[in-house]
Amino acid sequence: MVLQDLGRRINAAVSDLTRSQNLDEKAFDGMVKEICNALLEADVNVKLVSTLRKSIKNTVNFKDLPPAVNKKRLIQKAVFDELVKLVDPHAEPFKPKKGKPNVIMFVGLQGSGKTTTCTKLARWYQTRGFKSCLVCADTFRAGAFDQLKQNATKAKIPYFGSLTSTDPALVAAEGVAKFKKERFEIIIVDTSGRHRQEKDLFDEMTQIQRAITPDQTIMVLDATIGQQAEAQSKAFKETADFGSIIITKTDGHASGGGAISAVAATHTPIVFIGTGEHMLDLERFQPQPFVSKMLG
Ligand code: GDP
Repeated sequence: MVLQDLGRRINAAVSDLTRSQNLDEKAFDGMVKEICNALLEADVNVKLVSTLRKSIKNTVNFKDLPPAVNKKRLIQKAVFDELVKLVDPHAEPFKPKKGKPNVIMFVGLQGSGKTTTCTKLARWYQTRGFKSCLVCADTFRAGAFDQLKQNATKAKIPYFGSLTSTDPALVAAEGVAKFKKERFEIIIVDTSGRHRQEKDLFDEMTQIQRAITPDQTIMVLDATIGQQAEAQSKAFKETADFGSIIITKTDGHASGGGAISAVAATHTPIVFIGTGEHMLDLERFQPQPFVSKMLG
């Protein structure tokens, strides 16, 4: 189920109830049930859905509602607030500082959209007045450096990498040192992914982190990953302790619910979402506007 469909379904459940002649507790319970079913079908974690159900019921507290209260408004607000809570980790996202080097390391599985998103983010900061560059520390996948080079060239972002080195931590350290010396403000380091979470990948991530001590580590999560998102992000969090999440491919036929669950599982804010393959397809993520847009 696509995110917009989820929004539409939740909206329909709320409007059906608020438009009905008979706004009683039974109808209210029916609406809550429909919202929860929609969330579950979109791969939102069962525990989160259960918390949301209880919270909506407690907030609205149908039994004790005074007769004069505007039930419709109250219910709409409760549903909106609970959906915002679902995607809001209540943690401040990283804000880079001007005039100093901000090293940002990307982690994530292969194919999640890391390399594409690195360039999108470098460009995002570049157009906002930060001197930005890219370092390719993926020495595992043949062609990784070429791909970064092509993207960076298109976006006119300086880059660093090696076609011959087999030591990603060394390449990362070299690139970061070079760009620090050249007074770059945003230094984004792309790392290698594998098809699965595995020991080699996690060892490599730790080595790179030690070599460059990033100011921020960002995990890239593919919106299409569904139920596995929670376990995957927890495993990455234990190793790389990322401080923010970027969800890619939100333009596709993804439910997005798994990715939403990853936020809750790791108490980590989503900072951006990828909305397409093009360089400009990157949007800032904020819980309230996101939920408003989802509900249409
Ligand atoms: P990496 O292996 O993690 O570095 O992934 P890539 O950056 O190579 O991306 C894998 C594929 O996903 C490429 O075909 C990208 O164009 C595509 N991709 C990345 N982000 C998005 C996005 O937000 N939307 C869409 N539709 N495709 C994306």
